[in-house]
Amino acid sequence: MTRLNAFEPVPAAGGRQRIRSLVTGGAGFIGSHLVCALLSRGDIVTVVDNLSTGRRINLPQSRDRLSFIHGDLAATLGSELAGETFDEMYHLAAAVGVKLIVAEPIESIKTNVEQTSALLEFAHRQRGVKPKVLIASSSEVYGKSTKEAFSEDDDVVYGPTTVPRWSYAMCKAIDEHLALSYHSRRGLPVTVTRFFNTVGPGQVGDYGMVLPRFVAKAIRGEPIEIYGDGSQSRCFCDVRDVAAVLPKVIHCSGGVFNVGSATPVSISELAHLVIMATGSSSEVRKIPYEAAYGAGFEDLQFRRPDVRKIRGAVGFDPVFSLEETVRDVAEWIRMGQRSGATWTDDANSVLIS
Ligand code: NAD
Repeated sequence: MTRLNAFEPVPAAGGRQRIRSLVTGGAGFIGSHLVCALLSRGDIVTVVDNLSTGRRINLPQSRDRLSFIHGDLAATLGSELAGETFDEMYHLAAAVGVKLIVAEPIESIKTNVEQTSALLEFAHRQRGVKPKVLIASSSEVYGKSTKEAFSEDDDVVYGPTTVPRWSYAMCKAIDEHLALSYHSRRGLPVTVTRFFNTVGPGQVGDYGMVLPRFVAKAIRGEPIEIYGDGSQSRCFCDVRDVAAVLPKVIHCSGGVFNVGSATPVSISELAHLVIMATGSSSEVRKIPYEAAYGAGFEDLQFRRPDVRKIRGAVGFDPVFSLEETVRDVAEWIRMGQRSGATWTDDANSVLIS
């Protein structure tokens, strides 16, 4: 583990106390946007990330009010962060993406349960005022329910344990149970957010994320492959809208909140939007699921959040259109290409997130 830069508390203008925030997985896609939002608010931010899927380059280069610890979260909580206190803790560190979950189920399951458990216990044991804690969960928790729009109190429906993809949903559900139990039994102010498909600049295709993979193919003029007939739909929300709402919803302790867009887009429509927004000559190719994942892979036809609860609580109203997001993702990928950065995007795109 290396601590790249230690922070020095900076007094805010007018003597106001700055908020001390911890972001686990802060070098990841959503985490890094959240770090920027918290720094803009004036927080002193500590990031812990083992860089398994995150990247140091995602974080602002300025060391002002930002401290980065490269290491495994559970180990770091017991060493470098032992005795440190925070006002807010955002727990985003996780094994994410279908490729990773299916390829490395044991490590992924352990990460997704043990790291959350360690973070909750660390928060509970903090001396003095208890920190507010936000636990990142996922729309995967709803499983293969066929309800038209998912509400936070809906029943969940999972496939059998012999199908590896369900381990992610089950781990996130355990995380939620644990978080809500720390709230009810130990008085820890914890909020759970279930992210639906979150997209935007900084997301890579390596781990099976659909939008960056489509955009990269479009930029290169290569065929965009969609699985099945492309009629399966998802609701895509810009990561900057998501990051902006987290420092608000963290105050809604004891609650579970869907975070996402309520507008469904089919994967076919997404592919064509990407082609249009990038001015690409790519064609769209349909590939049977079995060819991509082998027999028996289960994808979901649609997944849409009911967002009334978060709207009522904190007024969540995303401002980025999907077209703007696609353009910004394209610009981000082109910038990466110009600077010589590379990432693979061969992973089969699937909609687990
Ligand atoms: P990401 O992979 O970019 O971020 C996860 C981060 O956690 C990475 O930076 C990774 O290096 C770090 N990490 C993993 N294990 C760690 C460990 N043991 N110790 C320290 N750091 C560790 O993924 P993301 O899309 O930013 O996801 C963030 C959170 O949001 C995750 O909890 C994920 O399950 C959840 N989520 C994301 C989406 C989405 O659409 N992106 C949807 C639903 C839920």
